[in-house]
Amino acid sequence: MNQKLDLEKYKKQLIEEQERIMLEHQAMGANASEEGYELSDYDQHPADAATDTFMRTTDFAIDENYKGILEQIEEALRKIEQGTYGKCDRCGKDIRPERLRAIPYATLCIDCQESLERR
Ligand SMILES: [Zn+2]
Repeated sequence: MNQKLDLEKYKKQLIEEQERIMLEHQAMGANASEEGYELSDYDQHPADAATDTFMRTTDFAIDENYKGILEQIEEALRKIEQGTYGKCDRCGKDIRPERLRAIPYATLCIDCQESLERR
């Protein structure tokens, strides 16, 4: 499969996500978990169980998550500039487009993500 990614689209998405997260984080204070994570147009994909885990872990350590996600977004933006966006950090394979659509800042393919989480 020759993966032709629309980098401009992902870049825009990442920047929007970055802004949204920063705004949300500022607005957090009082009502923490209410508005939190709404990956609204994300269709449950049976193969993409990592997202599920991800979403379930957002309730606690929300601060850590924000920091982590912002770092991942920055990393993803850097990778777009370097032309390595969409490649798994660990094995170098292409990350599946449906995974990137759900998590545009994903830096690992689903296989690597799962094997990391299993440890
Ligand atoms: Zn991988």
